[in-house]
Amino acid sequence: MLDGQGRTIDYMRISITDRCNLRCRYCMPDGISWIPMEQILTYEELEKLVREAAKLGISKVKVTGGEPLVRKGCPSLVGMLKQVPGIDQVTLTTNGVYLSKYAKELKDSGLDAVNVSLDTLNPKRFFEITGRDDLESVLEGIEAALQYQIPLKINVVLQRGLNETEWMDLASLAKENKLDVRFIEMMPIGYGKKYESIPNEEILQQLEREYGTLKKDTRVHGNGPAIYYQVPGYKGSIGFISAMHGKFCQYCNRIRVTSTGDIKSCLCFEDQISVKDALRANNLQEVGRRLALAIRNKPVAHRFEDHEMITEQRKMSSIGG
Ligand code: SAM
Ligand code: SF4
Repeated sequence: MLDGQGRTIDYMRISITDRCNLRCRYCMPDGISWIPMEQILTYEELEKLVREAAKLGISKVKVTGGEPLVRKGCPSLVGMLKQVPGIDQVTLTTNGVYLSKYAKELKDSGLDAVNVSLDTLNPKRFFEITGRDDLESVLEGIEAALQYQIPLKINVVLQRGLNETEWMDLASLAKENKLDVRFIEMMPIGYGKKYESIPNEEILQQLEREYGTLKKDTRVHGNGPAIYYQVPGYKGSIGFISAMHGKFCQYCNRIRVTSTGDIKSCLCFEDQISVKDALRANNLQEVGRRLALAIRNKPVAHRFEDHEMITEQRKMSSIGG
């Protein structure tokens, strides 16, 4: 379906839980009191929601959180969503800690691709960033995804004075392995407001200093706004998601669903439309109507550059990053 600006909206990110096993300092440093399970959409409700969304032209779904793999039965949800008519692609974003445990089940359920978030290869720094000692498990998760041939991307958020010097080591994962590495600029959502957003342009310039002018890789890599480059000798590509310094709102193709069934059409603003009561009343026509309303009223652009204009106050983990 087209939104009010004429953009095609065909991608939905679904947060299936607000809970997480890590405490990333820019996302959920302190943990929170979790939302009671009865307020969270069940897998059956999520499937119904995706059926209605597919009727409006949503064809790609991302399962995210919080940490989606801490919710019991996540691979079975992937299988359920894969069966929905009109859904071509179901992918997952995870911190990777439990990925080795579930990689086979996810593959068998039909998962099309996985994104693993990993900001450092240094165990001490991993603890500093995530509050946990789980680097080894994440690396095992990456190995498992490669072993089961699930297309894989690594998402990296660089932070000034912390892991910014590691960009080359992280990029090199795409040299040795058939995976893409993407650098995501820090966004001023929740705790992210406390940190500087390092322009991706800086990383691209350093990469080009090493390898010369890089060719854009125009093959389709994912659902989003990342710009990819091919690097000589690399098995995978390097991508840049520059929400802050390369505003891409005119190409935005997505809506989000929070774990409690609120439809959000832009990360920056608090505006949302709940579909939970309609889902629980099995009033699917009303669910479709509200989805269409959220799509139609999608804001023209975010206003991250002006903190006064950011009305969304929740953490990324509560919204579904
Ligand atoms: N737990 C999963 C994970 O870490 O991949 C899924 C949810 S997490 C919120 C999704 C992505 O959002 C992660 O790659 C994380 O690094 C990113 N993220 C969280 N807060 C952010 C912020 N303020 N700016 C940019 N990216 C952020
Ligand atoms: Fe958890 Fe992902 Fe947030 Fe880190 S970024 S605290 S792994 S939800």
